[in-house]
Amino acid sequence: MIGGHPPGTPATTSDTSRAALVVAGVTKSYQIGPEPEVALDDCSLMLEAGKLTVLIGPSGSGKSTLINIIAGYESADAGSVLLDGQPVSGPSADRLVVFQEAALFPWMTTLQNVAYGPKVQRQWPRDKIAAEAMRLLEKVGLREFRDKYPSQLSGGMQRRAELARAMINEPRLMLLDEPFRGLDAMTRELMQEYFLALYEEKRQTVLFITSEIDEAIFLADRLLLMSNKPGRIIKAIDIALPRPRQAKLLTSQAYLAYKEEALEILHEEALKAFAGGSKAAADFVEAYASREQ
Ligand code: ADP
Ligand code: MG
Repeated sequence: MIGGHPPGTPATTSDTSRAALVVAGVTKSYQIGPEPEVALDDCSLMLEAGKLTVLIGPSGSGKSTLINIIAGYESADAGSVLLDGQPVSGPSADRLVVFQEAALFPWMTTLQNVAYGPKVQRQWPRDKIAAEAMRLLEKVGLREFRDKYPSQLSGGMQRRAELARAMINEPRLMLLDEPFRGLDAMTRELMQEYFLALYEEKRQTVLFITSEIDEAIFLADRLLLMSNKPGRIIKAIDIALPRPRQAKLLTSQAYLAYKEEALEILHEEALKAFAGGSKAAADFVEAYASREQ
């Protein structure tokens, strides 16, 4: 493993033998002005197979940059990304990314959209594809909407269809980059529950990115905290809350203790960024201040 990690960071303490994905010492800069902008600096993490890992960090901390490197859309300046021991060198169907922008095909019905991946792959017989697509649509509450087109669905429904469309492909690694951003609070909570219903059934290896603390803890088996610019994983917290997760967990003592622990670290990071003039940091300062409510 790459050196330079203080004791207690994920790169040195986790058991690599169970890791589906290992990111080691990844550094990435963008040359915009005269000075290079360092988005990621010696960023290391590990995703355990079949676990839902959530990465939380403020806006601009390099989360999407990290996802893009893991997906193979961009290459790192230094460091390595290994999926099941194999270096990642470009995009591949084994790493599927879900973004916040809905990307359903507008000319296909909901059912056709969900069935699209396996249909193109041609690895399953037709009736299996149809049955699996219907089953997943049922899971995300869209059974009655199977013959509707995306424009006939609400924003939340479109994203649920999107989740089903991604999950049906059973990628080795699912990457979700703030998939519920921009949804109103109630829709968002519903989305989280639908997402968990899919995850808790399939148990795929998932990296879920968010900047929302409640979402992060509610979903996660393991929570990774990212520092403010440049991005680096500063802490990993195992979330030992029972599954299936239910909304009532959000008021439990165990949950609140995790939240307090995470917010304290994120708050420190936000203060540093605040001092450096980052507007995004204000979100975290505010979240921390209102944590008792
Ligand atoms: P996040 O997803 O956490 O909000 P990003 O990964 O999008 O953060 O961005 C991290 C930093 O890298 C930001 O300062 C951003 O301006 C910069 N950045 C990201 N992508 C590019 C790019 N393609 N060109 C130049 N700078 C970029
Ligand atoms: Mg982003």
